[in-house]
Amino acid sequence: MPNKFFLYKYQEGDIVTFKKPHPCGSSDWQVLSVGGEVKCKCMGCGRLQVLTRDKIEKATKSVKSNGTEKG
Ligand SMILES: [Zn+2]
Repeated sequence: MPNKFFLYKYQEGDIVTFKKPHPCGSSDWQVLSVGGEVKCKCMGCGRLQVLTRDKIEKATKSVKSNGTEKG
């Protein structure tokens, strides 16, 4: 099994900014849990969404950890 390298390290509590904003107008999501799938909550309307690792990586523009830019 080859090691799989991920583009972003998602951790609980991180704020993920998506390329496409949610219909509510917010593009920031808070990470609630990380595993094979990433569960996140919209910072604008509180909607929960579960995304596969591949999907969330494609949708992610940037990740902030505890207010610190990771790049
Ligand atoms: Zn929303």
